[in-house]
Order: sequence, then structure tokens, then C-alpha cells
Amino acid sequence: MSLPLEYPVTLPDGQKYSQPSGLFINNEYIKSKSGATLESINPATGEVNGAVYAADSEDVDIAVDVARKAFKSWRKVTGVERGILLNKFADVLQEQRDLIGAIEAWDSGKTKEQNAVYDIDECISCFRYFAGWADKIQGKVIQNDPKKLAYTVHEPFGVCGQIIPWNYPLAMAAWKLAPALAAGNVIVLKTSEITPLSLLYVAKIFKDVGFPAGVVNILSGFGATAGKALASHTGVDKIAFTGSTATGKIIQQLASSNLKAVTLECGGKSPLIIRADADLDQAVKWSALGIMSNQGQICTATSRVYVHESIYEKYLTLLAEHVKTTYKQGSMFDSEAVVGPQVSKLQQDKVLSYIEIGKKEGARLVLGGEKNTDKDLAKGYFIKPTIFADVKPEMRIVNEEIFGPVVSVGKFSSDEEVIAYANGTDYGLGASIFTQDITVAHNLASEIEAGMVWINSSNDSDVHIPFGGVKMSGVGRELGEYGLSMYTQAKAIHVNLGTKL
Ligand code: NAD
Repeated sequence: MSLPLEYPVTLPDGQKYSQPSGLFINNEYIKSKSGATLESINPATGEVNGAVYAADSEDVDIAVDVARKAFKSWRKVTGVERGILLNKFADVLQEQRDLIGAIEAWDSGKTKEQNAVYDIDECISCFRYFAGWADKIQGKVIQNDPKKLAYTVHEPFGVCGQIIPWNYPLAMAAWKLAPALAAGNVIVLKTSEITPLSLLYVAKIFKDVGFPAGVVNILSGFGATAGKALASHTGVDKIAFTGSTATGKIIQQLASSNLKAVTLECGGKSPLIIRADADLDQAVKWSALGIMSNQGQICTATSRVYVHESIYEKYLTLLAEHVKTTYKQGSMFDSEAVVGPQVSKLQQDKVLSYIEIGKKEGARLVLGGEKNTDKDLAKGYFIKPTIFADVKPEMRIVNEEIFGPVVSVGKFSSDEEVIAYANGTDYGLGASIFTQDITVAHNLASEIEAGMVWINSSNDSDVHIPFGGVKMSGVGRELGEYGLSMYTQAKAIHVNLGTKL
């Protein structure tokens, strides 16, 4: 039986909508050439939410071809017009915030009221922010020789391939789509095979607000087929990827087929340092937020906490109490729930296996450390918020990305010692420092190997500020003006003002 291109859905909160299932190519939903499909699974119940068509390399070829044709006219559209379209798109997201938030929650396991709708707000901010840039992209005049006029224009790449993960299906798409479109590129984006629904629904809004056919193309599909075809496609000029470091390495290799430009936002194991002079109440709240939000499925999760030995036990007691009272676990449509299920069974199993590793390695379990088997949650992929203490630098739970609500806490006695701990992994995404000493704070920020450092907070990222990592956490930046610059390339124009040979 072939899958219909749209089907009616009633969400658990009672909202009704029509879910598209096709590949969004040339402003239409179409079936995949092979007829292959993939399923969205409800993380709170393990039941199938619905299926969508899955692209393979033939569908990627079609989408890239369509995008390349669209680029011919899209590149002539003014920045003002691009900005207007991006703002119109943000307006519709705003109007449909509650529905889109509910779809996102249903598909990904984010709790709707406490988590998913805020992602939609971030998408709206992101589209509005880059809409503002669309008519402010400027090159330079280079003044050296009076007999030569030299200037640069910042041109779009052309066809941008974009590959995103499941932990922020809409926000990760927004971080890529908005700057690429503002800069005048056309796009073929592949969603995660685990969370295909929300962006596929949102895709038609691009058509509705007036983006020309072929400018934005959204494909559901698996990494090993559609993702590989997109990253290696010689008709794609630039690839932007967010996902694991292991896949990021593969993307960089695939992109070498035509030396396409690459940006990679990969994994992390971000440290959070609490000095003896910190505001402990604030450190407790921010450190809990930095690992328990989004079920710990955040690339910048501050998953390693280092606390000065003089306040170590006090911090652990306060953290456990705060997490127990503030991070209530429940399903996506429980309005009081903050921590939902992990996105998939695979992810639940992976996190549980790390919890077992932590126990075997000798870390002290302070809280959680198991599946949540409460009556209403037993079928879902829930893991209780977990705190490990007394961790040592060589432990796997200290060095490897767990990507769940599991924090590893250790103690330190000097700034030199804690900097060595903080820089002791292959990752370099985020880092947090809690101290009241402004000089020490800036000195530590400069010594930490990370793309982002928060002083007296954690994970309060912002669309105006660049986001990205060093070491094996990635290449390039998203968001802010730096993020925009990843979607243009400078062309130098030399004009001879009279030099004769
Ligand atoms: P993943 O690497 O498994 O998959 C990411 C995407 O890559 C998916 O769309 C997948 O289909 C695709 N993919 C997989 N194999 C591929 C291949 N061989 N060729 C081309 N594409 C392929 O990651 P995930 O499990 O979806 O997401 C979790 C990871 O993402 C974590 O490591 C997390 O830290 C990272 N992440 C990083 C950031 C950041 O900004 N640095 C943000 C969010 C998530």
C-alpha cells in the first residue's frame, strides 16, 4: 500500500492538522522514487506516530537539480525582498507556534509547554535576526594603488546542502536555513530519520509566504543513503552539518568530492567549573539547567561539573535537591513536565549503558541512575535525571558524550588543576565558569579550549552570538554575523584605472 502524501492527525493535546509525508521538492510534496518510507516513533509510548517518504540518491539528484535551476533567478532577488520573505515566514511560525510546538514535542519527546514551544520562539528570533541581515551584506573597497579600484562582493555559494540531527529538529534547521537564505543561497536540507515530521509540515510555509519554487527543498531520509548522497554531490557547493563527531568526520571526507565548503557542528563534553567564591545558589541552578534541559540531549550540555573541594559536598546536596524539585519527569503533553523521554529506544539504551559504565568505574551515584518505570511512563524511553559524583579524569563517563540527563561531578583544589581537567578531552564546544572574581573569570575563559565560554551561566545561547566549537567539536560557526559569513564567499574585482603596459 502506498503512503498518502498527506494524512490527518489529532495530536494528544487535541489539536488537529494534516501531516505531509512527501519529499518537499520544487514547492511540492512528492513521493520518493523508490517508494521507500521511514517512521516517526512516539518516544513516550513507543507507538508509531506516522510514516514519511525517505529519499535516496536519485531523489537527492532531483532536488539538487531543481535547486540549481532556482538559483539562477533567486540570486537576482534583492536583499530587501529576501528579508521580507524571511520575516513573513517568521510571522507564520508565530501564528502557528502552539501547533508547531505540539508537532515538535510529539515527534521528538520534548515536553511541549516547558521545552518545545521555546524552540519555536528561538526559530522565530533566528528568522527575524537573519531577515535583518539580508539587505546589509557588504563587501569592501581596498585602497592601495590610486591607479586601481579594487573591491570585494560577498556572493552566495549557490546550492547549500544541510544535514541536521534530531535533538533540535526545527531550531537546527532554522540556524542553517535563515542565514543561507538571507545570503541568497538555495537549499537542499535533510532532516534526521528520527524526527522528520515538524520540518516537513513547516516546509509548505516557505511556499505559502512566497519563496520561489526550488529555493528551499526538504528531504526526509537516512544518513547512509540520502545524507551521503547530499554530502558527496558534486552539484552541491557547500555542506553544513550538525550531528555527532563520528559522522562529522565522514561528512568532511564526502565533501572532498568537489572540495565543497564545509561547516561542522559536532559533539561536546562541556565542563562547568565552580570556584570556592561562586554564588552557589546560581551555580546549582545553572548547572542543573545545563544538563537536564532537553533530556540532556544538547551538544553544549555542561555534562562535567568540577567543584572546589571546600564546597563540594554542599553543592552535591543542593544540586540533588534542586533537580528533584525542579526537573519533574513526564510525557510531552503533561504541562508540568520538564524532562521528557529520550528521543529513541536506541538513545535510551545508550544512556543506560553509560550509567552502568559509570557504576562499574566506581563513580558515586547520587541521584537517578535508572529507567523511569512509573506506571504511565514505563513504555516510554524515560531515564531519571542522574548525578554521578567522585568522578576521575580517566573515566569514560567523563570523556565520552552521553547525550542524556547524566552529569559527572568531580572536585578540584586549584585553578591550574581544573583547567587541566577542563581541557582534557578531545572536544571543545562550550564551557562555564562560576566565580565572583572578574579577573580570574576572564583569565580562565582565555585558557579554556572551547568555542564558547559562559561566565556565571550555562547554555543561554543567543541568535546574535556565534555558536560553534574547536578541536573535535567542529569547524565554523552558526548564528550571529559570523554565522552569516559562513554562507557567502568574497569575490575580488580589480579595476585598472589607467595603468598601461
Ligand atoms: P548523527 O551524527 O547520528 O546524525 C546527524 C545527521 O547526520 C542525521 O541527519 C543523519 O541522518 C546524518 N548522517 C548519519 N550518517 C551519515 C552519513 N554517513 N553521511 C551523511 N549523513 C549522515 O547525530 P545525531 O545522533 O542525530 O545527533 C546527536 C549529535 O549531534 C550529538 O553528538 C550532538 O552533540 C550533536 N549536535 C551538535 C550540535 C552543535 O551545534 N555542535 C548541535 C546539536 C547536536
